[in-house]
Parts: sequence; structure tokens; C-alpha cells
Amino acid sequence: MNHFHEDLQAIYEEMVGWRRYLHQHPELSYHEYQTAEFVAKHLLSWDIEVRTGVGGNGVVGLLRGNGEGPTVALRADMDALPIQDEKNCDYTSTKNGIMHACGHDAHTSTLLGIAKVASMHRTELKGNLVFLFQHAEEISPGGADSMIKDGALDGVDAVFGVHLWTPFPVGHVYTRSGAFMAAPDEFTIRVQGKGGHGGLPHQTIDSVYVASQLVVNLQAIVSRQVDPVEPCVVSVGSFHGGTSFNVIAETSVLNGTVRTFNPELRQEVRTRMERIVQATCDMSQATYELEYKLGYPTVINDVNEAARFFQVGSALFGEEAVHESPLIMAGEDFSYYLQEKPGCFMFVGAGNVDAGIVYPHHHPKFDIDERSMLNAANLLLSMALDYMA
Ligand SMILES: [Zn+2]
Ligand SMILES: [Zn+2]
Repeated sequence: MNHFHEDLQAIYEEMVGWRRYLHQHPELSYHEYQTAEFVAKHLLSWDIEVRTGVGGNGVVGLLRGNGEGPTVALRADMDALPIQDEKNCDYTSTKNGIMHACGHDAHTSTLLGIAKVASMHRTELKGNLVFLFQHAEEISPGGADSMIKDGALDGVDAVFGVHLWTPFPVGHVYTRSGAFMAAPDEFTIRVQGKGGHGGLPHQTIDSVYVASQLVVNLQAIVSRQVDPVEPCVVSVGSFHGGTSFNVIAETSVLNGTVRTFNPELRQEVRTRMERIVQATCDMSQATYELEYKLGYPTVINDVNEAARFFQVGSALFGEEAVHESPLIMAGEDFSYYLQEKPGCFMFVGAGNVDAGIVYPHHHPKFDIDERSMLNAANLLLSMALDYMA
């Protein structure tokens, strides 16, 4: 596999073509039917063993190499988001209100490129490659867990994945050893008051007032109750209550997220939130329902595999392009693979300020510097080959 860099370079335009096609035809989480078909068709055309419908719309490819070496899994996610594409270019989404605004189209194309090149050199492979095309990364419970339960990691020794990342510049790569990305939990608080006339508040229990106090009081968790050196976020993302200027709202609903790295702190925040919600509602004789949904676990990279990244990355891109990432407060269900097998999740820079590629993930004008796909392909394949060596 000495010439795989050149081979990846040679199919770069093809990877761009796949990415732009998928970008024009995005599918929401749990609905990746055509994307899965697109992937399976290509893998089969390169004589790669394919299993479809894995844990849902997941597709798993197996490329058997030469001999008895280890089996390394590489993962790409395939789903898009419920966002209206607002870019001005000739590959904008053709689907109203659906958009690849996280770069999963490019992840899929990157892994297809690796599969194609590796399939051309299968006799030189010192182990086997498993290609995990994962459905439903964006929405909990996520596709990773269901694919693992359906055997996606059977026989796998190590697992690697990348996320292209526009806040980081193209040409640079990042990760960190140990805890890397947060556990993203979700809460919904329904405050039940007593409706009535806007001019006669004393006869009501004002749910907007109580929910407003809650928004403020919940901020005490991070600012006053959690060790300041422990990363933790409590955000209320939506607040709905009331219908008219002269009516006291009977119910108000808050919806938000909690982000932590430490599993004990994760539980502690939940307990503190329950206490604050109960006490705040009690003060005004309101009642409540608190729904607390645990999201993905923390992404925790294996120490040895993270070390492999720094060595492999430096050889590929030069030491000055390889960075220890800060902690990332976003979540990723790659964490489930890392709970099962040693591995490493890595960020590949995809932003380019000079080219106007500056929009964050999940933004209606999100785009990537497509050269990041080539970097990601080189990195992922090199990690796998280095593991096999
Ligand atoms: Zn995303
Ligand atoms: Zn993503």
C-alpha cells in the first residue's frame, strides 16, 4: 500500500463528485434509504462484502486482506439535518428543509474513497478493513449503538473515525487522549400553573413567572454548585408559554441541554436540577413534570491510539499541523464504539476563512473546504495501516 496517497489523490475528484451528489440528496436521521443504497452499490462494485440494514439503515463493508492480521474498523456517518440550505452554489440541497449541514455527506464520500483505494490493494493489506457506514448520528439514541448490537464490531480489533470540522482550518488535524467530547443530555420541564385574567394575577399561578425563575435558578448549577475546574454546561434552548397579552399562562415548557465529561458529575447535575425545579415550583405552588433524557456517553479516546494519531498525523501533515484538541462540548455517538474497542476519534480541519468557509456546523450556510476529505482519507487509512503494521 505504498502508493495509496497517490491513489487517493487520483480519485479526489470522484470523492468530490460523490459528496456533491449526496449533498444534493440529503436524508434525515433514520431515513437514509437512498444514501445506504448508494454506499452499498459502490462497495459491491469494488468487490467488497456488504451487509445492509445493520441496526437500521447502517451498511457494513468487509474487505479481507492478505493473511491473519488484525481487523480495523473505520466509520462514517450518513445522516443530514432538518435545516433549509441557504448556500449559493451549484450543489445545494434539492430537498426542501433538509440539508447536510454537519458534513456527513463528506464523511461518507471520504470512507468510500478509502474503500475504493484499499480494494485495489487488498492483497497488500496485512489485515482486514471494516467500513462502518452509520445511520442516525444526529438524533439520540443514534445509529452506533444499534449497529453494534447488530454485530457491526464483531471480530473488530480497533476502530477509528473522523469528523470534518469547520472551526478548525483545513490542513490541520486534532484530537486528545482520554475524554474528548461531552455527554449531551436533554431535559424538558413542564411547569403547570393556574391560568386566568392578566389583570387578576393573585387568582392565578403564573407559569411564565415560575419558568422564568427556573431559567435563572438553573444557572446556579454551573456557577455556584459545580467544581469550577470541571467542564459543565446547562443551557435552556427553548421556552414556550402563553397565548395572549392579557391571559396568565397556565403552562410553560422549557427544553434544554446539559453537557458534562465526568460520569459522576453527570448524575450530580441531574439531582441538583430536580431539587431546584421542585423548590422553585413549590415557592409559587406550581407543579411540574421533569423529563431527563440521557444522551450519548462521553467520547473517550484510547491513550495508545491517541498517541498513534500524533505520530501518524505528524508523518502525514508535519508536526506543526497536528494539535491537541481542546475539549469539545458537542456530543458524538462514536462514543459507543470506543466503549467496546480501543480506538480514536479525530477532527480534521475543514474551514477556510479566505474562501469564506466560516460557518459553524448545523448552520444553513454550512459548507466545507473539500480538500479536507483528502486529508481525512489519508489520516484514516494511515491509522488503519499503522495499526496493522
Ligand atoms: Zn451534527
Ligand atoms: Zn456531525
